[in-house]
Amino acid sequence: MIPGTPSQPLASRDARVVWHPYTQMRTSPPPIPIVRGEGVYLFTEDGQRLLDGFSSWWVTIHGHSHPRLNAALSRQAAQLEHVVFASCTHTPAVELAERLISVVPPGLTRVFYSDNGSTAVEVALKLAVQYWGNRGEHQRRRFIALRHAYHGDTVGAMSASEDSIFTRPFDSLLFDVIRAQAPYCYRCPLARERATCGIACLGEATPASPETLGELLAHHGDSIAAVLVEPMLQGAGGMIVWPAEFLSGVRRLCDRYGVLMIADEVLTGFGRTGSLFACEHAAISPDIMCLSKGLTAGYLPLGATVTTDGIYQAFLSDDRTKTFFHGHSFTANPLACAVAVESLRMFEDSDVLTHVRALEGWLRRGLEPLSVLPVVGDVRVLGGVGVLELVSDRATKAGGGYLDDVGPRLTRELLARGLLLRPLGNVLYVMPPYVITEQETAWMIEQIRDVLVTLD
Ligand code: PMP
Repeated sequence: MIPGTPSQPLASRDARVVWHPYTQMRTSPPPIPIVRGEGVYLFTEDGQRLLDGFSSWWVTIHGHSHPRLNAALSRQAAQLEHVVFASCTHTPAVELAERLISVVPPGLTRVFYSDNGSTAVEVALKLAVQYWGNRGEHQRRRFIALRHAYHGDTVGAMSASEDSIFTRPFDSLLFDVIRAQAPYCYRCPLARERATCGIACLGEATPASPETLGELLAHHGDSIAAVLVEPMLQGAGGMIVWPAEFLSGVRRLCDRYGVLMIADEVLTGFGRTGSLFACEHAAISPDIMCLSKGLTAGYLPLGATVTTDGIYQAFLSDDRTKTFFHGHSFTANPLACAVAVESLRMFEDSDVLTHVRALEGWLRRGLEPLSVLPVVGDVRVLGGVGVLELVSDRATKAGGGYLDDVGPRLTRELLARGLLLRPLGNVLYVMPPYVITEQETAWMIEQIRDVLVTLD
């Protein structure tokens, strides 16, 4: 028997059969039934219009249900929906790889496809370890990642992520990763001031703390396969915006100790930080770059791990044991690739990045004045991302972290006003589709301000 019928409301049918990510609290509100999307807006079953203030988990870039992307998808569907990628190739995959290579930082020349952000990271970790193994350097098997890191929900990606309620139940499955300080300036790990710190948290020049990247590499360098970072913006770990100098320093340190640098640009890629890739803020090229989310403009799941020719060459062999044995059923799905190609064309023929930079200005103008509110501890803006870190005491910077009740409360109150956001506990952020207008941005910030003043 089919348990639900189309005449029943979607949320009650859903409640019987669907298991949603991250929302199993008995007190969680029911999921919002969305029937249509257009531009920055989503429309519910009962006709409410919601502004998607966080791009549906950071994926939507040109807006929902964009006519140009819809057309590209339907053209491709009429041609070829899928084909195995271990034995075959197809135009969308090749064209996407060609286009990616032409826009990613210099030196990245090979694209390995998978199907989401976590798998793009898993591929990067596996590539790094096997790269060194194929070169006979079997001792290089460990990774250094940063505090507050989040790299995905699969086992390798969780291992690389900071210990948190997301990963703790799976502790026994995770491999050990060395953890270095992150440049979280508002809560500086070394209690320095940004103007005079000289990026001491990197530990590049003078000994600062045993947990800085510089000192960890000095100590463990020979056993490290790669350093993995979310460049310029650590996302799920608290929307932490970096000084670009930290990123350039990571590159220098990786070069000094001869380890690979992996940039997880799953969140930051495709314009989110105001440049096409976050690595551009420090004019660096990583050895491996992970892409997903905005890669398909938020249309379809697709991952890409982009590497150098040097890494590719280490796998090219007559010896089968050197092969990279990793491939997903939906590797390089043609529908996803075709939409990704069209999205990159849109970057080329309309001024998408100029719009993101304008959005950065609107966010700064709107959010910085909110720093006077007693609940606002820190305001951070980078490209199309605006962040308010909320505290209960500005002097001590006390904040409730991811489990802070303020998150669900803000979500509920903003939703009632027509704004869809998902704060990370006490970190409230906006990350709208790039097509948002100045007026819509101002409206979004007005809703936030009106709700925040009720918290005081
Ligand atoms: N890396 C980063 C930096 C991310 O922000 C995310 C997702 N939020 C992932 C990896 C994992 O991507 P996915 O959810 O597509 O598996």
